[in-house]
Amino acid sequence: MNKQLATGLVALGTMMGSAAMAQETFISIGTGGVTGVYYPAGGAICRLVNRDRAEHGIRCGVESTGGSIFNINAIRSGELEFGVAQSDWQYHAYNGTSRFEDDGPFEGLRAMFSLHPEPFTVVARADAGITSFDDLPGKRVNIGNPGSGQRGTMEVVMAAMGWTEDTFGQVTELPAGEQSLALCDNNVDAIVYTVGHPSGAIQEATTACDTVLVNVDNDTIRELVEDRDYYRMATIPGGMYRGTDEDITTFGVGATFVTSDAVPEEVAFQVARAIFENLDQFTSLHPALANLDPAEMVSDGLSAPLHDGAARFFTEAGMMD
Ligand code: GLU
Repeated sequence: MNKQLATGLVALGTMMGSAAMAQETFISIGTGGVTGVYYPAGGAICRLVNRDRAEHGIRCGVESTGGSIFNINAIRSGELEFGVAQSDWQYHAYNGTSRFEDDGPFEGLRAMFSLHPEPFTVVARADAGITSFDDLPGKRVNIGNPGSGQRGTMEVVMAAMGWTEDTFGQVTELPAGEQSLALCDNNVDAIVYTVGHPSGAIQEATTACDTVLVNVDNDTIRELVEDRDYYRMATIPGGMYRGTDEDITTFGVGATFVTSDAVPEEVAFQVARAIFENLDQFTSLHPALANLDPAEMVSDGLSAPLHDGAARFFTEAGMMD
């Protein structure tokens, strides 16, 4: 190669390199425990975003976290750009209600799209004498780590049922990733997890020892669901997990993908594009994502306004007026 051309190419390479560096944008997605669905769902989102990195310069990373409420708080403080959060906690964060009353409304919270349904799932040891949710008083119950969606939702349910921590024989606050083992080690009688199905954690709890999923269905639960848009009754199909052959009736929320108005329009646009232009691939990356419906994803469970970038993509793609 002639020397002048070689020097020219090196110079061009340096220029291109620095241009790419200058444009590189890092985004982090807050998820949940590694055996939940948020973590693999976040991984699936990053995988599709990173595939087109050469075009848009966005580098996406995923973090295992304490869950919904942690994620929303970390987005608010600017520590994370995106996160997965239950629809009930998206609602409360935007409106400054329930757990978010002290912090006030998070007006910059933005919705991207919704994901899978998350039934409020109670798994009990088969030998614990628990056949329904109403049997939990007096038992050893893992009510979830602070920061998780299930802990927040369990507190709402406990208040509605007139229960306090003293209602139980013992209360633990183990994170989602540790509770299946605690159940099988006989350290607790029941665990509570708001999670998509099938999930690794519930598979673990139902295969490593003898356990049952129990119904969470009584007048109080029905009333809660009736009064609140972000709750609905839900079914966990019988036969999905060992030990539970009948359908389980409970209530549930939706998993949603959220961000803040501090995230640039173009970044949110590219993230929405990466998912919806490859939706078949996205839904094949985890069985709990298999039944996602694009029309529902852009409307269901989104109480915060859509991020401008996501809204632009949905409009351009003809998914929204
Ligand atoms: N719903 C749970 C939470 O908000 C997380 C479930 C999961 O990780 O899939 O904390």
